[in-house]
Amino acid sequence: MSSLSRVAEELKRGRRFLIVGHVMPDGDCIGSMLALSLACERAGKETVLALPGPVPSIYSFLPAVDRICVEPALLQRGTDAFSAVVILDTSVPERLGNLEPVINELRASGTPAILIDHHVSAAAYADLNFVDPGAAAVGEIIFDLLKLLGWQIDRMIATCLYVTVATDTGGFRYETTTAATHRRVAEFIEAGANVREISLRVFEEKPFKSIEALRAALNTLELSPCGRVAWMSLTREVAAGLQLADEHTDGIVSYGRMIEGVEVALFFREMDDGRVKVSFRSKNFVNASRLAAQFGGGGHPRAAGAVVQGELERIKAAVIEAAVAAVREEGQ
Ligand code: 5GP
Ligand code: MN
Ligand code: MN
Repeated sequence: MSSLSRVAEELKRGRRFLIVGHVMPDGDCIGSMLALSLACERAGKETVLALPGPVPSIYSFLPAVDRICVEPALLQRGTDAFSAVVILDTSVPERLGNLEPVINELRASGTPAILIDHHVSAAAYADLNFVDPGAAAVGEIIFDLLKLLGWQIDRMIATCLYVTVATDTGGFRYETTTAATHRRVAEFIEAGANVREISLRVFEEKPFKSIEALRAALNTLELSPCGRVAWMSLTREVAAGLQLADEHTDGIVSYGRMIEGVEVALFFREMDDGRVKVSFRSKNFVNASRLAAQFGGGGHPRAAGAVVQGELERIKAAVIEAAVAAVREEGQ
């Protein structure tokens, strides 16, 4: 594991960076990429931003969001060399989606990769790896990094950083939210982040399709006989009928967790390629990351995910059984 000052040195030394994040990008991933890009630009450096999937519409208000390229073929390769590839919030290389081969190619031709992450399940797959599972969001690490570098944050950077922490802590509700988190957030607000405006955009408004997806999912809600595991699912047919994109099903899993007595909530979504995306959330004690790892995924102790190959009903049965067993075994 590298220290944050090693990462800072690389940023200080380099001139041009490729900054990337994960599939189904979220507020932490997008906000961290934009904050780092803006800060690099202020320091006289050039950045290219790429994601393996579209930016959800709730984040389209973020400053400089138009910089993010979602088509790897459009990355201006062959022009100027990159000093490094900076990979944010991406615990395993598979989560880089269609950017993985692009990054492998760059690394093969001598461009180093720097990973900045906070997942307990993160693998040290880059050349320089800074992983802090104690960080509530990668955005906290980016802020600490900018401080180390002596780079000031302005209103635009503060807005992006506020979004990273607000989203990854579920609106400052998860146990990852510490006093140090709030001290950093205080600095974001002092630098000009507008709490009300950001909260409206990110938490209080959703596309109509998201609510239609929620309605369809709630129709499938079931509870285990023990009352500790809740699940919902969306088939490919239903998703196609409603013309849903990935972003429209984000957050549905948390409705299962709201049920009194429920410890683990699951959400199963059949993807276009036939695989099934499983989201895991726990309330108090089940290690969701370890549960997801049984199905090839990972994440955080209270929020994790996996993409599983196979038939929906079979996957559901296996995951529900594992979740009920985890509640029994890990229960106090
Ligand atoms: P979500 O269920 O919202 O997609 O993801 C919740 C958490 O689990 C995120 O922090 C994400 O990093 C992680 N996660 C989601 N899907 C996967 C996956 O397929 N593999 C791994 N390793 N982690 C995932
Ligand atoms: Mn993320
Ligand atoms: Mn994150």
